[in-house]
Amino acid sequence: MHQIGRNSSRDKYSSGFRTPMSERASKELALLTPGGVNSPFRSFKEVGGHTIFFARAEGSRMFDIDGNTYIDFVGAWGPAILGHAPAGVVRACQKALGEGPVFGAPHELEIEMAKAVINAIPSIERVRFVNSGTEAVMSAIRLARGITNNLDVIMFEGGYHGHSDSTLSSKTQYRAGVPMQEHTLEAIFNDLESVERQFRANKGRIACVILEPVPGSMGVIAPTQEFLEGLRKLCTDNGALLIFDEVLTGFRVGYGGAQDLYKVKPDLTCLGKVLGGGLPIGAYGGRANFMDQLEPVGDVYQAGTFSGNPVTMAGGIAMLSALSEPDVYPTLEERTDQLFDGLAPVIKKLRLNVQLQRVGSMFAIMFCDRPVRNYKDSLMIDKDAYANFFRYLLEHGVYMPPSATDAACVSYAHTPDDIDATIKVCERAFAALSAAGV
Ligand code: PLP
Repeated sequence: MHQIGRNSSRDKYSSGFRTPMSERASKELALLTPGGVNSPFRSFKEVGGHTIFFARAEGSRMFDIDGNTYIDFVGAWGPAILGHAPAGVVRACQKALGEGPVFGAPHELEIEMAKAVINAIPSIERVRFVNSGTEAVMSAIRLARGITNNLDVIMFEGGYHGHSDSTLSSKTQYRAGVPMQEHTLEAIFNDLESVERQFRANKGRIACVILEPVPGSMGVIAPTQEFLEGLRKLCTDNGALLIFDEVLTGFRVGYGGAQDLYKVKPDLTCLGKVLGGGLPIGAYGGRANFMDQLEPVGDVYQAGTFSGNPVTMAGGIAMLSALSEPDVYPTLEERTDQLFDGLAPVIKKLRLNVQLQRVGSMFAIMFCDRPVRNYKDSLMIDKDAYANFFRYLLEHGVYMPPSATDAACVSYAHTPDDIDATIKVCERAFAALSAAGV
């Protein structure tokens, strides 16, 4: 058992949390790559201090280059649902690597992987593999536009769908360098009336409605059943496609994703993260007649040198096979129950303004005084309070997302002892925050 939050594997410091090697490395990488990160999510801009550099990750633990050990709840932002480096997935990838990492031509693992995805996700009859969630979303939107001959996309305030232009041009996601597109419209999550208004105002122009059925970037928000069913009906009635971006929720909130949990079938589904077993992946799929609009059958273009490469397919097949074991999702549910059952009484006793929200093993600890149901609610989250909480946890061996509004994840590798240890650290962090008047 590793000691949490101390220099356990290298006994270089007598006591306390120290990260001089990470500090040095973060300064060095910042000279070479913007902000010292290859993806802004990883930056500690919101929580302060330098990033932690990791040497290794295994099971529920991550090991930094200074010798500190952390119980990890970031899960690589979703993919590590079995914990880090699951043996079966690693072995399958190593074998495929030995046979050639990329062919740029069909191979049999693509058949097995496509069958596994089609069996798992209720609305998918045909699937195409790509290399990231961003690519899956970008391609699914293009396909929806190709099928409907319409250009407008309705997304939801605060929704995150990766970094393609269409979804970064909404008001709440807008970033410099993105062409302002009049074709990206926004509605309010869990508010069907706001979607109806967009359909009315843009009659005959909507290609698709895209949403994370369980948003994970404005805290974790459960959709109402009526909302998802209402979206399904609105899209059908208006000849628009319903796209579920299940890049995060796919194989996470259940083996069949959110569409299986809520029994609502989208026209197209985007997948990624868990699906690749830790290797870069994205996928999109749906009804056969829709998917067959893609080249080389139809005329909607999308391609990729590395798409469906054997190593990723092998990792994905091993991952999906492990996830189909009957105890996986009940265990994830049990561990997340244990975490919330441990945290809730502490929050109540200390009368903290903290909301615990989850769907399956996707969860958020949000510093605000009311439940979060949409983007506007998420603006109430106290980022400074979260930053203090995050830093306390980090210094005591628990790694949470370095962002107050992003989903954390429980993994199958978390043991009841891991969860108990995490509850104890959180309890002390809450007490410290309470003493400081948060
Ligand atoms: N869609 C959702 C819901 C996501 O959470 C993410 C990533 O966090 C993406 C799309 C983009 O995926 P990727 O980072 O693999 O491009």
